[in-house]
Amino acid sequence: MNLKIREVPSVNLKTEYEEIKQEIDEAITRVLNNTSFILGKEVKNFEESFKNFCESKFAIGVGSGTDALYLSLLILGTQPGDEIITTPLTFIATAEAITFAGGIPVFVDVDSKTHNLDPNLIEEKITNKTKAILPVHLHGQPVDLDPIIDIAKTHDLQVIEDAAQAHGSYYKKEPIGKNSDLTCFSFYPGKNLGAYGDAGAIITNNEELAQKAFMIRNHGRIDKYLHEIIGYNFRIDSLQAAILSVKLSHLTKWNRKRKKQASIYTSELSDLPLELPFVPEWADPVWHHYTIKLEQRDELHTFLKTRGIGVGIHYPITLSSQPAFAELNYNTQDFPIAENISKRILSLPIHGTLKSSEQEYVIDTIKEYFN
Ligand SMILES: *Cc1c(COP(=O)(O)O)cnc(C)c1O
Repeated sequence: MNLKIREVPSVNLKTEYEEIKQEIDEAITRVLNNTSFILGKEVKNFEESFKNFCESKFAIGVGSGTDALYLSLLILGTQPGDEIITTPLTFIATAEAITFAGGIPVFVDVDSKTHNLDPNLIEEKITNKTKAILPVHLHGQPVDLDPIIDIAKTHDLQVIEDAAQAHGSYYKKEPIGKNSDLTCFSFYPGKNLGAYGDAGAIITNNEELAQKAFMIRNHGRIDKYLHEIIGYNFRIDSLQAAILSVKLSHLTKWNRKRKKQASIYTSELSDLPLELPFVPEWADPVWHHYTIKLEQRDELHTFLKTRGIGVGIHYPITLSSQPAFAELNYNTQDFPIAENISKRILSLPIHGTLKSSEQEYVIDTIKEYFN
C-alpha cells in the first residue's frame, strides 16, 4: 500500500472561516461601523453568552488565556513566595502566570492514563506556604476535580482551573468550572473556541471575585475617571468579542464533530500497538487533542509529517525540565509519569472542519507505518 501524499493540517482556520464567513464578516463590519473598539456592547454580549454556555454566574473577558491565569492569581491575592500546586505537563503559561504573580509553581506528577494532575499526590506537597491548586484540563480531558476540591477545603486553599483547552468539557454531567473559585479560558486561534487574535476569559460563581476581576482588568475603574484600586489593562478587544460571539454559536456543533472523530480514531486504531486516550466514566471531554502514546513516537511523528499530516506533541518537554525554570531547581525524577508521557505522546489532527476523507488518510497512513 502506497498512499498518495496529501496535506492534512492539525487545525484549519481557513476552512472554518469559510464555513461561517458571512456571519463573521457581518460582525466585523458592525464593529467597524459603530467604532466601539473597547469594551461596550460586543464585550457584554459575548460575556453574557459565554457565561450561559458555561452555566456560570459571571464571565469576564480578558486579553488572553495567560492574562486570565495571571489576573486570577492577583484577584486571589497571591503574595511573593506563595506556593501554587500545578502540573508539569501543560503549556508554559500555566506556570508562567504563577511566577509572574510572584508565586512558586509546585509541580505534582500526573496520572498515567488521564495525563492530568493526580489528586493522590497533592497532599504530600502541601506546606504552610501553599495558597492554591491550579489543575489543567489537558487535551480537553476534564481533571478529576472533586478530590481536588476536597483537599482544598481541608487545607483552606483556593482552586483555579486552567480550562484553556476545554471549552464545553463536562465533569460528572456538569460543565467544568462549577465548584472552583475561578476558571480560565484561552481563545487563542487554535483552541476549540478561538478568536482571530489573542483573547481569554475567566468564569466564576463568586460575585465578589467577579467584581474584582471586572475592576482590575480595566485600570481599577468604578467610573471613567475614578479608580478605586490599582488595576491594569487586561481587556478583551471588542472586535474579538464580536467574532467570538459568532463562533460560540457554532462551538457545540464543532465539539460534537471532534467527539465523532475521536470515536473513529479509537475504533480504527484499536488493533495497533499504541496506547489510545483513556476517558473515565465521569468525563465528557471536548477533544482539544486526540493523543496516542508509543515508544517509537519520534519515528512515527517524522513519518506522518513527511506524509503531509499535521501532528503535534503536547508537550515534548515538561515544565520541570524547561530552562526558564532552571533557577527553581526541580528534580525531573520527581515527575516520572509526566516525563514518560512527554517522550511517548503524539497528537493527531482533530478539529471542527476535518473532513472524513482527511481522517481516513491519517488512519491509513498510521496503519501503513505499522505494516
Ligand atoms: C493556550 C493555553 C494557555 C495560554 O493561553 P493564551 O491565550 O495563549 O495566553 C494556558 N494554558 C493552557 C493549558 C493552554 O493550552
